[in-house]
Amino acid sequence: MRNANLVLILFLFLCSPVFAQSVSTKSQLGIDPDAMDTSADPCTDFFTYSCGSWIKNNPIPPDETAWGISHKLQDDNKQILRRILEAAAAPDPARDATMQKIGDYYAACMDERAIEAAGAAPLKSALERIAMLHSKRDLAGVMAETSALFADTGLGQSALFLFSSEQDAIDSSQIIAVADQGGLGLPDRDFYLNTDTKSVELRKAYLAHVQQMFELLGENREVAAREAQTVMRIETALAKGSLTLVQRRDPRTIYHKMTRQQLQALAPSFHWNEYLAKVGLPREGSLDVSAPEFFKTLNAELEKEDLQNWKTYLRWRLVNINAPNLSSAFVDADFDFYGKTLGGAEKIEPRWKRCVESADQDLGEALGRAYVEKNFTPEAKQQVLKIVTQIEAAMQRDIESLSWMTPATKAKAQEKLHAVANKIGYPDKWRDYSALTVDRNDHLGNVLRARAFEFHRQLGKIGKPLDRGEWDMTPPTVNAYYSSQMNDINFPAGILQPPLFNPGADDASNYGDTGGTIGHELTHGFDDEGRQFDSQGNLRDWWTAADAKEFEQRASCVSDQYSQYVIIDDVKINGKLTLGEDVADLGGLMLAYMAWQGEIKGKEPQTIGGFSPEQRFFIAFGQGWCTSRRDEEMRLRATVDPHSPPNFRVNGVVSNMPEFQRAFQCKSGAAMVRQNRCRVW
Ligand SMILES: [Zn+2]
Repeated sequence: MRNANLVLILFLFLCSPVFAQSVSTKSQLGIDPDAMDTSADPCTDFFTYSCGSWIKNNPIPPDETAWGISHKLQDDNKQILRRILEAAAAPDPARDATMQKIGDYYAACMDERAIEAAGAAPLKSALERIAMLHSKRDLAGVMAETSALFADTGLGQSALFLFSSEQDAIDSSQIIAVADQGGLGLPDRDFYLNTDTKSVELRKAYLAHVQQMFELLGENREVAAREAQTVMRIETALAKGSLTLVQRRDPRTIYHKMTRQQLQALAPSFHWNEYLAKVGLPREGSLDVSAPEFFKTLNAELEKEDLQNWKTYLRWRLVNINAPNLSSAFVDADFDFYGKTLGGAEKIEPRWKRCVESADQDLGEALGRAYVEKNFTPEAKQQVLKIVTQIEAAMQRDIESLSWMTPATKAKAQEKLHAVANKIGYPDKWRDYSALTVDRNDHLGNVLRARAFEFHRQLGKIGKPLDRGEWDMTPPTVNAYYSSQMNDINFPAGILQPPLFNPGADDASNYGDTGGTIGHELTHGFDDEGRQFDSQGNLRDWWTAADAKEFEQRASCVSDQYSQYVIIDDVKINGKLTLGEDVADLGGLMLAYMAWQGEIKGKEPQTIGGFSPEQRFFIAFGQGWCTSRRDEEMRLRATVDPHSPPNFRVNGVVSNMPEFQRAFQCKSGAAMVRQNRCRVW
C-alpha cells in the first residue's frame, strides 16, 4: 500500500473551577471527569485541563513509545483479536477455512521454539541467490524473483525502490504501475542528511546496528564494519536523490507518467523490461515514476558501486526487513535500534502482541471479519452514518455561506462533497485469501507468502476495473482516512468504540469526538492537497485563480500558527508538513460543531456532571487526544509525522474557535483565544 494519497488522522471556569459530580455514569456522560485536571485553566491550556489527570495516572508502558486513550483502545482491540486468534489456533477439525488460516498463522508465529531453532536459516536460499549474482545486469531479475523478500508493502519497506500499483492521478478510474523512491533503512531521507547533533548520534547508532546484523549473519567484526560503511554510503546517496516529505505533499510533484522506454532511458543500468516481465507485467503500458530524480540517482549509483557492494546492500535489506520474524538474536537487535534508540521504548512487546499485529497486517480482513461480528453492531453503524450525514450537510451549509469563495468554485465544491463515499466499519465484500497458503509450522514462510500475495494482489489490479469498495485499513484499526483518488472517507470499526464513540452517550460527546474525526476526514477532501482533486478523484484544478489565492491565504494562517509551536527542546512543528492535517483538524471540529448544533436545535440544553453541552462537546474532543510520548518518539515524529503532536491538535484548534471561548467564558487575551483566528472551512 502506498500512502501518498491517503491522509490519516491519528486525536467554568474563569472564576471557579468545575468539579465533576457523579450524577451520571461515564458512558452516558461520554467524557471522563477523572481524566481531567480541573486545577488547570481551560482558557490557558485546554489539553491539560481535559487530559492532565489521565496522563499523570497512565504512564507510558515500558513496551510502548507513546500512550494515550486511543492507544489504550488499540490495546483493548488487540486483546479481543488475541482471544479470536487463540480460539482459532486450537486444531479443531470444525474450524472453517478462514478460522483455520488465521489460527495456523498465529500458531506458527507463537511457536518460538521452532523459530529459535531455525535462526537465520529461513533466509538461506535468498542469501545464496544474492551471492550467486554474476553481474549487475542480473540485479533486475533477482529483484523481481525475490520481490516478496524485499517488499514489505504494508510498512513501505523495500530494496532499491518501491514498486506497486495505484490509481492514475489524472484518470482515477485506471490502475497503473508505480515506481517510487525507497530502499532506505532509516525512516526518511532527512535522517541521513540532517547535521544536528542528535541526527549525527543516531547515524552512529545505525551504523553500529547494521554492523551487528552482518555479524549475526556470520561475518567477522572487521568485514561487518566495512560492510556497514558500504550500506551507509549507498543509502545516503539514495537519500540525497529522494524527495522530502514536504515536497511529496504536492500531488503534481509525485506524478510522472512514462512509457517503459522512457523509464529505461531514465535509468538505463537497471533492466526494467526484465523486471516488469518477471513481476508479471509483460505487456506494454505506462507507469507512474513518482520521483524521476531518485531513479537518476539510483542509476548513477548502479554505475558507480561495484557488484560486491550491491550484494552487501541487498543482504542488509534482506536481513533488515525480515529481522522481526527471525530468531531472538535478530529480533532483539532489531528492537534495540528501531524500538529503543529510535522510539525510546524500554522493552519489546510481548510475543502475542507482535503476532496479533502480524496477523492483522497479513490476514487483516479474515481476522477483521471475526472482530466486527462481535464488536460492531448494525445499530452502531447506523448511528455513525447519521452523524456522517449530518456533518456532510453541515459542510454543504458551510460552503454555501463562505464569503471568500465565488459561486463557480462553490458549485464544484458541492459537487465534490456530494460525491464523497461514506465507508463505515468494514468492507461490504471481504478479501479472498484462498490463494494464500498458510503453514502451521513455518512462520517466516507465512509472512513471505503473505507479502508475495499482497505484492501480486496490488499488481493484479493493473488494467482491471477499479474496486471502489476496497479498504486500506483493517477493521480493528483505531484510525481513519480520506482517499483523494477514491474520494471516500473511511472509519474502521476499531475507532468506533468506547471511549471514543459511545452509542449510549449523549450527542455532545459523540459529536465532539467521533464527529470531529468524521469532519477531519471530510475536510481532507478540501485541504491544500485534497482540493487539487475533483469529485471523481482526478488531479484537476477546479478552482478559479482568485478563489485558490483566497484559500492559500487562509491556509497560510494555519501553517504560520502551528510553525510557532515547540515540540521538544528547539524542535518546532514543521507547519508545511502538517498543514493538511492542521487544516483538517480545524475544519473537522468546526463542521462537527455545526452539525451538532443542527442536531440539538430546539432541545433543552442539559447540564450533566456540572458540564454544559458545549463544554462536554469540547472536552470529548480534547480527551480523544489524551496522549503522552517519549522524547525519542517526539523527535522521530517531528520529522516524519504529518500530524501535529496531540496537545497542539487540541489547543491549536480550540484557540481558533469563538464557540470554545463562549463555552468556557474565556477572556480575550487568554492563551486559548487567538488574536488572529484562522479559519479555512
Ligand atoms: Zn488526517
